This record gives sequence, C-alpha cells and structure tokens, in this order.
Amino acid sequence: MTELPEVETVVRDLRPCLKGRRLTRVRQVSRRALRTPWRSAWSTAVTGQRIENIRRRGKWILVELENKNFLVFHLGMTGQLTIVPAATPYATHTHLIFDLDEGEQQLRFRDIRRFGSVRFFADRAALEAFFQAARLGPEPFDVSARAWRDCLHSSKRCLKAVLLDQRVLAGVGNIYADEALFEARLHPARLACDLTDAEADCLRRAVAKVLRRAIQRRGASIRTYVSGSGLRGEYQKEFRVYGRTGEPCPRCGAAIESCRLAGRSSHFCPRCQQAIKGRRGTLSTSQAVRSALPPDR
Ligand SMILES: [Zn+2]
Repeated sequence: MTELPEVETVVRDLRPCLKGRRLTRVRQVSRRALRTPWRSAWSTAVTGQRIENIRRRGKWILVELENKNFLVFHLGMTGQLTIVPAATPYATHTHLIFDLDEGEQQLRFRDIRRFGSVRFFADRAALEAFFQAARLGPEPFDVSARAWRDCLHSSKRCLKAVLLDQRVLAGVGNIYADEALFEARLHPARLACDLTDAEADCLRRAVAKVLRRAIQRRGASIRTYVSGSGLRGEYQKEFRVYGRTGEPCPRCGAAIESCRLAGRSSHFCPRCQQAIKGRRGTLSTSQAVRSALPPDR
C-alpha cells in the first residue's frame, strides 16, 4: 500500500520535473479500465495545458493545470507515476501516457492491480467537493492537540481502526499505523476513548514523527512502490514492528506478535504495547475485527 510518505516522495520528485511543462498529448494504452475509467473528453480538456503545480493531499496527488483543471492520481496498492524518456518501451500495466512539451519525455501512470485511479476535475470547487463528500480528514501534521483528543475520546473503536480511517487523518495506512503505535507504546486494540490526554498527545506526535522519518528515507518500498524518478524507498529497512512477526522487539527483545484488527494485520510488541484494561476495557480481537471501517478513498 502506498501511504503518505511514499506519495509525498513521488510529488517531491515530480514537482521540479513537471512544473511549467505542457501536456501535449494523452494516450490510453491499456484496454483494462481503472477504478475510474478515463474519458476521452478529459484528454481533450487537458491537452495543450501547462502544469502550474503538483502537490499532495492525503494519499492523493493533485496536478493543477493553467486552465484550473485538476488531474488527481491515487496510487492505490501498486500505482506508479513516473517521468521517463519517450524512447523507453512502456511496461505492461501502463494505463496512461502524457507527452510533455515536444514529446521527448512522458509522464506515465502504471498500475498492476488497478486499485489506483486518475480523475479529472474542472476546477478547484469540484475538487474540494470531492474531498468533502469523502469527508477526508486533516493532514497528520496539521491536526491540533484539542481536535485530536476530542476525536479519540468520542470514538469507541480500537486505535488501529481510528488511525486507518481517512476521515480521521488523511494519508496513514497499515504500515505507519503499526509503526506509530509502537513508537507511542500503545496496543493497537486499545479503545480510542480510553486514552488519557497524555497518551493521545503521545500518539499524535508519534504519527508525525514516524511519517517525517519515512519521508526523509523516501518512503518504504515493499512490493512495487517506486518514487517519481523510479527509485525505491529505504524506510522498509527501519520497520520496528511492521512485517516482523516473531522477530525480536528492537526495544525489549520480546517476540513481535500480529493479529487481525479492522480487517488488517497488526504488528505489535506484547511487552512494550500492553493491552492495558481501560475504563471500557480492551477490545478483543474478534470485537475489533467487527468494528466498521469505511473505504479509504
Ligand atoms: Zn518491546
């Protein structure tokens, strides 16, 4: 899964290469449709437009054009958005090719599993309406201590489910939820409403710290993630619990355990992250699995 640090790395790589360039031709090269099928009218709208900016919101990549249209990419599980010389043969599972300027370079969108998407918005209001309809939450670096405490204290869900909910925080997924909970020494099955203010503050800071460090390391490459320049990330070498079931905890040496929570695998240290019984108790794994989780896009 591509999460905030990976998407941020793609955007930082692409920005200097894309700003000011013109989209001169759009081609759909795969017959297999993406989640949101590309429409030929969108090709007409964006062709000839200059790229004014590229930025990230949650796990979305927003490309703003001079006519104030937006192209919005979601990398899903296996999406890749890269700039390559036009002479490079395109790989299987490439869906869209955007020629840049004279066509010597291309922006290509590739997605093996096709959980990703490319959407078109006619203006900023349409884009904002889309995010509002999805109730996309704040960026993890922007959420205030007060709002975060209130959010946790009003939720009867387990911490893992809360962190994965894009309406609570935009951009966090399975890897960084597990790593942040380890950083904060909180068990993923603990109920959000049972956290003390100090624990809530600790978790908020842990999420930001883990994400910042992962951005510094250019994200984590598991499976197919590559940055905008086609390079792999390095943060997977620093995972402390994610994917390390049975390996020793880097803090205390206890064997890392895993369980299913909110429909996803969760990794934690049973000694550093104890499932302390709170005012309302700790969710059993089976209860937590039943806690509803909305789709993240
Ligand atoms: Zn430990």
